[in-house]
Amino acid sequence: MFSHMIPRASRPLLRSANNTFRASPSTLYLVDKVQSRRSYATETEEKDLVIIGGGVAGYVAAIKAGQEGLKVACIEKRGSLGGTCLNVGCIPSKSLLNNSHLYHQILHDTKNRGIEVGDVKLNLKQMMKAKETSVNGLTKGIEFLFKKNNVEYIKGTGAFADEHTVQVNLTEGGETSVRGKNILIATGSEATPFPGLTIDEKKVITSTGAIALETVPKKMVVIGGGIIGLEMASVWSRLGAEVTVVEFLGQIGGPGMDAEISKNIQKTLGKQGIKFKLNTKVMEGDDSGSDVKIKVEAAKGGKEETLDADVVLVAIGRRPYTAGLGLENIGLETDNRGRIVIDQEYRTKIPHIRVIGDVTFGPMLAHKAEEEAVAAIEFITKNYGHVNYGAIPSVMYTHPEVAWVGQNEAELKEAGVKYKVGSFPFSANSRAKTNLDSDGMVKFLADAETDRILGIHIVGPNAGEMIAEGVLALEYGASSEDVARTSHAHPTLAEAFKEAAMATHGKAIHY
Ligand SMILES: Cc1cc2nc3c(=O)[nH]c(=O)nc-3n(C[C@H](O)[C@H](O)[C@H](O)COP(=O)(O)OP(=O)(O)OC[C@H]3O[C@@H](n4cnc5c(N)ncnc54)[C@H](O)[C@@H]3O)c2cc1C
Repeated sequence: MFSHMIPRASRPLLRSANNTFRASPSTLYLVDKVQSRRSYATETEEKDLVIIGGGVAGYVAAIKAGQEGLKVACIEKRGSLGGTCLNVGCIPSKSLLNNSHLYHQILHDTKNRGIEVGDVKLNLKQMMKAKETSVNGLTKGIEFLFKKNNVEYIKGTGAFADEHTVQVNLTEGGETSVRGKNILIATGSEATPFPGLTIDEKKVITSTGAIALETVPKKMVVIGGGIIGLEMASVWSRLGAEVTVVEFLGQIGGPGMDAEISKNIQKTLGKQGIKFKLNTKVMEGDDSGSDVKIKVEAAKGGKEETLDADVVLVAIGRRPYTAGLGLENIGLETDNRGRIVIDQEYRTKIPHIRVIGDVTFGPMLAHKAEEEAVAAIEFITKNYGHVNYGAIPSVMYTHPEVAWVGQNEAELKEAGVKYKVGSFPFSANSRAKTNLDSDGMVKFLADAETDRILGIHIVGPNAGEMIAEGVLALEYGASSEDVARTSHAHPTLAEAFKEAAMATHGKAIHY
């Protein structure tokens, strides 16, 4: 889909007089033009770049632009920087996942390790406070980085007045407007609602409510067995809720997760107490009473059933967010899924207006948004940019974690690619066994003829960290033999990674 990106090898690089790499002569002209324009006294009010949205996409772009010497302003309406990710997404969810895991482990998994604990009590208020401490520290950190890199932070809601002007409704009251030679839209996404259920973030919640519940629900139904749904299901199940996940598809984790890995993690989460209803369609919900009733039936039609819950989490996906942005004032349209349409340089049909992050194409992931932010600024300042959409990892932070990069077996089969498989179980890895934490496996998929790695899929402890090695291998076009011949420290979980590569290329030693 994004094959238009310039491959690393073909980037036009020249060494400049001060020994730093710069772009080709035509690109140099562009950089110089941007820099010299800034010196006109009459244009001092105009920014080189105005960014709408201070989420991961927007704030990273702002910092990068500041580093490149652009005069930049970033407009954010939330009252704090970091967007969904830092405020109500990646960070708070991982704080709750980490601490609920500790709680669950102390309750159920210490005696056999020789640790005897007394009364264990959950203090949910304090757990939420710990989450807020992490969030506040990180969002304030971005404000500091803005100052350090001369980024002007405008608190308010931005809307296009014309192709170069953004009108801002200031959070503190009043209005201002800011002009930009370039404008970057990074307004992110929002939870997709479920028709017929009214989100009140108490009884019927999105992930935003799920990271802020004041009490542990007795019964929770999660509509949608994707990554966000399963992470939240894990948190509340560990804290004592009876959780049922209803999923339309025949597997959990979303279609990107390899089917074998999905089955593996479903079994483990099932042992942890989460119930699953796969191939099941939610027909309607009734939230008029004190609890919520969810009517479900088999996806292919058939038996109906009603599930009762005191809290229902709607986790059926997210959709691009452009409300109030005034796209109509400049004639910009969205596609049938609400995404703003762009070309390979993130440009809309108005070339100085670019779009990155959740509000446009590609996976809705913070690190994807970050990569695009850097590339978009490089397109503005240097005329080239690089994001390898084939090597963006996905991670599910349950316990054990699931992580993957590249293609899964179903995708390779569909594309008619001949591939070989090599896998290694954590039950044969010395460190996982030592840690008494050995559920899961590492699985490599490599081209049958060339041995080039096509996909790596991990379910197991620390999978989210381990996948970084897989991403690097894919990025550099490594073969499974390359990884198999690379020394990995002993005893580490990463040895399972090496052994899976050995199993793909030849034979694993320890299994
Ligand atoms: C519960 C949850 C967990 C997640 N966990 C992970 C994870 O572990 N790893 C991962 O990679 N991704 C995760 N994500 C996804 C990740 O949060 C998003 O991919 C990422 O935040 C996208 O960044 P963005 O900057 O494009 O959008 P956002 O982070 O949504 O930021 C957009 C910002 O723009 C602001 N804005 C919108 N319109 C305007 C306007 N008109 N004027 C001014 N400001 C405006 C919004 O207030 C918002 O702050 C998670 C998401 C959720 C919901």
